[in-house]
Amino acid sequence: MTKTVYTFGGGASHSDPRATDKTITGGKGANLAEMAGIGLPVPPGFTITTEECVRYLREGSDFSDQLRADVAAALTHIERAVGKSFGDAADPLLVSVRSGARVSMPGMMDTVLNLGLNDATVEGLAATSADERFAWDSYRRFIQMYSDVVLGLDHGLFEEALEVAKEENGYFADTEMSAADWKALVTEYKGIVQQELGTPFPQDVNEQLWGAISAVFDSWDSDRAKVYRRLNDIPGDWGTAVNVQAMVFGNMGDTSATGVAFTRDPATGEKAYYGEYLVNAQGEDVVAGIRTPQYLTRAAREAAGATAPSMEEAMPDAYRELADVFELLEKHYRDMQDIEFTVQQGKLWMLQTRSGKRTAKAALKMAADMVAEGLIDERTAVLRVDPMALDQLLHPTLDPDAARDVLTKGLPASPGAASGRVVLDADTAEQWAGRGEKVILVRVETSPEDIHGMHAAQGVLTARGGMTSHAAVVARGMGRPCVSGASAVSIDAKTRSLRIGARELKEGDTLTLDGSTGEVMAGEVPTIEPELAGDFATLMEWADAHRRMKVRTNAETPADCRMARQFGAEGIGLCRTEHMFFDAGRISAVREMILADSEAGRRKALAKLLPEQRSDFVEIFSTMAGLPCTIRLLDPPLHEFLPNEDAEFADLADVTGYGVDHLRRRAAELHEFNPMLGHRGCRLGITYPEIYEMQARAIFEAACEVAESSGEAVVPEVMIPLVGTKRELEILRKLVDDTAQTVFAEKGRTLEYMVGTMIELPRAALMAGEIAEEARFFSFGTNDLTQTTLGVSRDDSARFLAVYVEKGIYQRDPFVSLDVEGVGQLVDLAVERGRATRPDLKLGICGEHGGDPSSIAFCEKVGLDYVSASPYRVPIARLAAAQASLRAE
Ligand code: PEP
Ligand code: MG
Repeated sequence: MTKTVYTFGGGASHSDPRATDKTITGGKGANLAEMAGIGLPVPPGFTITTEECVRYLREGSDFSDQLRADVAAALTHIERAVGKSFGDAADPLLVSVRSGARVSMPGMMDTVLNLGLNDATVEGLAATSADERFAWDSYRRFIQMYSDVVLGLDHGLFEEALEVAKEENGYFADTEMSAADWKALVTEYKGIVQQELGTPFPQDVNEQLWGAISAVFDSWDSDRAKVYRRLNDIPGDWGTAVNVQAMVFGNMGDTSATGVAFTRDPATGEKAYYGEYLVNAQGEDVVAGIRTPQYLTRAAREAAGATAPSMEEAMPDAYRELADVFELLEKHYRDMQDIEFTVQQGKLWMLQTRSGKRTAKAALKMAADMVAEGLIDERTAVLRVDPMALDQLLHPTLDPDAARDVLTKGLPASPGAASGRVVLDADTAEQWAGRGEKVILVRVETSPEDIHGMHAAQGVLTARGGMTSHAAVVARGMGRPCVSGASAVSIDAKTRSLRIGARELKEGDTLTLDGSTGEVMAGEVPTIEPELAGDFATLMEWADAHRRMKVRTNAETPADCRMARQFGAEGIGLCRTEHMFFDAGRISAVREMILADSEAGRRKALAKLLPEQRSDFVEIFSTMAGLPCTIRLLDPPLHEFLPNEDAEFADLADVTGYGVDHLRRRAAELHEFNPMLGHRGCRLGITYPEIYEMQARAIFEAACEVAESSGEAVVPEVMIPLVGTKRELEILRKLVDDTAQTVFAEKGRTLEYMVGTMIELPRAALMAGEIAEEARFFSFGTNDLTQTTLGVSRDDSARFLAVYVEKGIYQRDPFVSLDVEGVGQLVDLAVERGRATRPDLKLGICGEHGGDPSSIAFCEKVGLDYVSASPYRVPIARLAAAQASLRAE
């Protein structure tokens, strides 16, 4: 029989590998067992497996008999370890109940503390702790949390009652409440429960426990957990574990405290302990951002100019013990740890450890430092950095020379620069962002309900909360710049305005945040382009040493090409020549070509375009200095180039000499119902060969010119789009070859070149064996291949795709991450059939998937030679390709 529950601490055995397997006991449970196993002070407890959560949700919220029996036995383990009994009126055991999924989902799931208190046990707690005030405060906290999390009551009701009680007594802070005040509030809280539910607050401690367990299980399917999973690609069928643990109290007076800490700075990666603590407080007070916490170390306190003593100064013994634990944990896990701890009357207890979330900058620094310290090797360093996180470093930062109108300074909670219009709530953030606005979400503090707004925003600003508040943790995880705890900010929700010091702003005004310094600035501050240097460059070198596939870029302007080369691109995988047609100086010649009635008319217009295209290619070949360049001939349907507006038609009439009526008629003739499946791709080249002929001529003339002037070998790869049959490619390859020969004869020199095709239709994949007879290379155009295989439009699917992903019909947006199961089969098969015909067939991918890490892993598996990604994704692709190689070893 597989175990449903694993005990830890208090003398439990930790030898069963399932107990420390995150897939079974969740991240929190596995690490608690592991910490207890290496002898750290962990309050005894037990973990209910994720498997039980999945079973419970599948079987309609029912607990198995085995689970009930195993939980009862595990409770006895805790009772024996702490020498107290659950529900004992004289000396009660209290427990915490927390969720803990396989990966951490900060703030997404529910927690209940102080469970086991009722009208009888509260008296026992008062007697054993000799602190009546503490006992009744704990009881009211429990009722408040339990009612919110388990009974589904609005926590506002309880907060309001507390506010009223304080007001009536003339108190300002919670700390002024006496034992009698808390006791009276408990009566009131119980009244609220009775009134709202028609039943009393549960007094049976076992009922309380099972209620909390089911609430944690149910929280796996809560809306906020689902949103978090969708944003972070976490499968819905993992489930969460439940951790039940003997309570330790950080709120037992001034020798007690609670805190969170990182073994290194999660924002910068600096090797310095980093964290916050609160004296006489309970765990959730720190994370919730209600009280502003104090610094952990004296150095951090001094750097911040704060006066409240650091833990190092206020509790030197407990601090020293904690620092020893930090060292031990880093050595054990060989990674930076994110820790929760409590000091109960001077005694340190560890409540959690996990690999800490970090910014990309910190991830790179830690990886490089840990290699230097001998803690990890280069391979581990390469595998440790999340490729997508690099995105944070590949975006502009504030120009240090630009003028800044600094309104205030908060905590530098998540680095990066962000400008946008102020919005005051998450829904507005999402709405405005949905219509293409850049927004900055400004809140007093954020809670898990704000997650969608934080995601939609460019950056987040909060008035309250420390560096480990919800806003800070979530923003860092998402890579959103965040300034937290900017106490000069006050928000007026009624007038939808905010005041920052003496300045008044309205919703919609523009702000700039610098999440690396904490500065909040009025207006938009100019930015500068990122650079690949320092730790970033070092890690990239290590990655390149382990990478098999080449990384190219999708680029068509010299500026993009230069950027991509700086980021390490090893060639161009896709140059979409149509982008060059949209240039303001050229569009009228393009339109003239499209609107011509005859080949002669088209050739006349094409002759105007030839020198323009040639100079584009000269620039590109020169910029790429001998690296391979794949140039794709014209792909989109011609009507895309035609005017829409009256004024544009009038302009075009002026330029071409055609009447407006004629132009409109021509435009109407070109209209298509399904342009994506219409007159586009190689079909243009088949029907209007003069277009491809001009483009091929421009390519070869440019290649000859650059070869001549630079002396470098230029090897153009001419790519034909949307091929579905061998015959299409045969006709067009001949056209390109003939043009090449003509140009070479004219120039008196020859060049090496290749003609190949995109594989972006299912038929092309199926017929790859035949098509490879005509093609020297294949480049998988997985944008179109996804569209045509799934029968889902690239342009019209936004309306239903989100629902499809939410319902798990697609695991991820198939245009972002390759549908490996379906579309992947076609790629795999085309690779196999193509190579069977032509063993040296060059194979690459140039759809958007070429910059997506999981798709890149697939490309490694099927043996492509290269991936091609947009310039900003090149470093991501380099790292992802290296990781794919390493994992394949
Ligand atoms: C593709 O279809 O994957 C591709 C790269 O071409 P485009 O996006 O230009 O259609
Ligand atoms: Mg395409």
